[in-house]
Amino acid sequence: MTDYRTMTIAYRVGKGLYVNLTNRCPCACTFCIRQNGPGVYGSDSLWLEREPTVEETVAAIEAEGCSSCDELVFCGYGEPTERLDVLLAVARYVRTSFPGLPIRVNTNGLSDLIAGRPTAALFAGLVDVLSVSLNAPTAEEYVKLCRPKFGAAAFDALQKFAVDAKAYVPSVVMSVVGTPDMTPEKIADCQAVCDRIGIPLRVRTYTPS
Ligand code: SF4
Repeated sequence: MTDYRTMTIAYRVGKGLYVNLTNRCPCACTFCIRQNGPGVYGSDSLWLEREPTVEETVAAIEAEGCSSCDELVFCGYGEPTERLDVLLAVARYVRTSFPGLPIRVNTNGLSDLIAGRPTAALFAGLVDVLSVSLNAPTAEEYVKLCRPKFGAAAFDALQKFAVDAKAYVPSVVMSVVGTPDMTPEKIADCQAVCDRIGIPLRVRTYTPS
């Protein structure tokens, strides 16, 4: 079996610089791109030999350079808030070293459950855009699709996190993946959830294996 593990910490997708802090995630989504191959959009493998330190992550960002980037995105092959302290430290460095560069976090919204405490306020002043995966219109469907280790409580927790974050992050959006199962009716139901909590919904393109 091929061993794809590398130390690809920062990689380009279009004009974005993406940061890969961890392969850990409390979910096991049925559509997760990690099941399709070792990388995305032509990147090197995103399976990490080990999790990078703050210093290694900063060095990787500096090596890639941010001058031609239009945003920096915490995303990668795992849930970035699994390493919240590192994420915040790196965001602080980016904020200081590249003022004006927008910082986005793509997250499953389970930061509070992972940390065991409310976390939205920690993003204040450090993150410009928070993209939270909703993925399903009900807790039952969410559990079936995303298989969170926290069970059904995850569905309410991610909504609470997103609502809390509105007080601290300029742009909070929710997303669903446009898999073949995501019917127009389901998207309308997800839209209703987002309308109820006052957060815009985006339908992300599904990349099948
Ligand atoms: S939350 Fe993201 S990284 Fe985690 S399993 Fe789902 S799609 Fe994959």
